[in-house]
Amino acid sequence: MKKIAVLLLLYFIIYTYSPQVQTGMQRVYKSDPVQQTITSVVDYVSEQGWDQNWEQAWQNTLGTTLQVVSGLRSDNPALEKSMRLLEQHLQLQLNALPAVNPSSLKIQVSPKLNLYAGDTGVTEETLKSASSLITNYSLPIIQSNVKLNPKRMTEIVFYSSPEMYANALLGAGISAQEAAAIVDQTGGITVNSSIWIPLFNLQGKSDLANVLTHELSHVTFNQAGIGTKLPLWLNEGISWHDGLAAQEKISPAQTRLVIKALTSRLKKTAQNGDLLPLSEIDQGLLSASYNVEFQGYLATEQLIEKYGLERFQVFLEQVQSLGVQRSFAQNFGQSLSEFENEFKI
Ligand SMILES: [Zn+2]
Repeated sequence: MKKIAVLLLLYFIIYTYSPQVQTGMQRVYKSDPVQQTITSVVDYVSEQGWDQNWEQAWQNTLGTTLQVVSGLRSDNPALEKSMRLLEQHLQLQLNALPAVNPSSLKIQVSPKLNLYAGDTGVTEETLKSASSLITNYSLPIIQSNVKLNPKRMTEIVFYSSPEMYANALLGAGISAQEAAAIVDQTGGITVNSSIWIPLFNLQGKSDLANVLTHELSHVTFNQAGIGTKLPLWLNEGISWHDGLAAQEKISPAQTRLVIKALTSRLKKTAQNGDLLPLSEIDQGLLSASYNVEFQGYLATEQLIEKYGLERFQVFLEQVQSLGVQRSFAQNFGQSLSEFENEFKI
């Protein structure tokens, strides 16, 4: 049983961490003793089936991995950075992203939702895979969570390499320094109804499902006229809620791991008294030592848990007509600033 715990731990480390760590771990993974163990475990499971003991070993391994993740992350900036890739995206204060080249490879998800290859390294297969994730997960999840969907023309552009993405960002008028940080640290950009996705920063299909759903949630709010009305923590919180729901459909274990690792990191920050007030998290979007968007997610989860999803949906709907302050007070029985001040993890 210990063997499988070690194997699963190795797998998670390879899957989750930075390129340097991945390379080192892959060497261990490919070594003869590990490969022999894998073969014997596979043989055992195929003969005996997946029983409760295996399930327990799996759960224990998740727990161990989380401890290792939070322990290593706090000591190692490189690991910290690679986790942030998984978590972070950015909404830029730009008026618009540049138009897509009309000759680009294109796939239509619906008459008002188009996917484009931002460079020649993005294949038709990738666009088709993204299209099916959007149809099967993103749109149904957003519709069921917030009773809204993008209604106007929406485009998503994918980039295959840091160089091509950096070029596109420079073309959008972003400074070289800022572009470098964005290429390095973010999983997606949304401006109005346009989304840019750097594929090279994502870790597999479940991560892509998360980012697509997250960014499409922002687009949905923008098109419903509430994107700029919602405080950042709520805008991010709901988008995280939707994104994680999509990721969970594809990889429940990976999603649990992400949530537990981020929660434990946030709790540590709170214990040290370093958590930013909810109303000020936009100040720390790229600079805070922890994931401020995830803080917004936890606050949003508390609201939904306390008042129920239906009430939350009414709140969102009424933001359009009443504004955020009045809708919040009317639906949650306290002022927005009271909730922000009282929020604790
Ligand atoms: Zn976001």
